[in-house]
Amino acid sequence: MTKPENPLKQYYNEDYPKQYQEPPGVQVEMNVKPDCGEKSYKGTGKLKGRKALVTGGDSGIGRAAAIAYAREGADVALNYLPQEQADAEEVKKLIEAEGRKAILIPGDLSDESFCKELVEKAYSELDGLDVLALVAGKQQAVEKIEDLSTEQLRKTFEINVFSLFWVVKAALPYLPEGASIITTTSVQGYNPSSNLLDYASTKFAITGFTRGLAKQVASKGIRVNSVAPGPIWTPLQISGGQPSEAIPTFGQNTPLKRSGQPVELASVYVFLASADSSYVTAQVYGVTGGIELA
Ligand code: NAD
Ligand code: MG
Repeated sequence: MTKPENPLKQYYNEDYPKQYQEPPGVQVEMNVKPDCGEKSYKGTGKLKGRKALVTGGDSGIGRAAAIAYAREGADVALNYLPQEQADAEEVKKLIEAEGRKAILIPGDLSDESFCKELVEKAYSELDGLDVLALVAGKQQAVEKIEDLSTEQLRKTFEINVFSLFWVVKAALPYLPEGASIITTTSVQGYNPSSNLLDYASTKFAITGFTRGLAKQVASKGIRVNSVAPGPIWTPLQISGGQPSEAIPTFGQNTPLKRSGQPVELASVYVFLASADSSYVTAQVYGVTGGIELA
């Protein structure tokens, strides 16, 4: 028996302590740890024998996807930045506790040659590759365009958009029929905040990339979809993704009046990777607390 649960009261729904870390931020130092399903996600074999590469797999939404993939029976390669080793080690332990392979491949996705190496390494160490969950992203709030440096603008585009081109280009020769590519856009790709101009622009681009690529590779039997999260409690937000003063009430302006936790996205990343979504491609799935994707 399961009883219905009130979504307003599920998960953390109070103010968060004000906090800041240098980007990319780590979960091990967050006050109120994000819930990535470490204790709660239960698998039912939906991805048995699959081989997944998850970028941003150390923390937040990528960690939730990586844990869920392993609990559904997949072997997982994780990409993240070297500064996030402590977070990545925690995920590795959780994946190995499921009897699945966890391959750690730290490195910078804004470097095209690294993107290529990442794919080669994931493919050879997993002995195959059939899920790309592209979750990594950079978000730094800047109030005025006059203060947005060209360096930040370039990096945000390189990490959030160019890396998708580079990773997919390197991976396509290896991806078999039935493979699934999942990108990560945002509500910001529909309804941009005034202080996230560069980031929101990349999220619009990710939706376009996803839809176009889906049409390009449909004939190979490969599906491509995207997930659009709303405000989710992760290191991205407390490391400059939001101004510090916005942290305590983060997410409370949604219809569900709280931020989401990464685990609340896990089953969508699983669905889009698995054969359950066999007739789904070129789509964007929102997990937003009620913010409309329009
Ligand atoms: P997160 O900080 O846990 O994950 C972001 C990850 O991006 C980091 O863990 C890091 O490993 C990776 N990354 C950043 N720069 C990188 C680089 N140069 N090279 C390699 N990896 C790099 O935060 P998250 O919120 O889970 O973010 C995951 C995705 O979700 C991002 O694409 C983000 O834009 C998107 N998203 C988040 C929210 C939210 O409210 N948290 C909302 C909408 C969309
Ligand atoms: Mg991280």
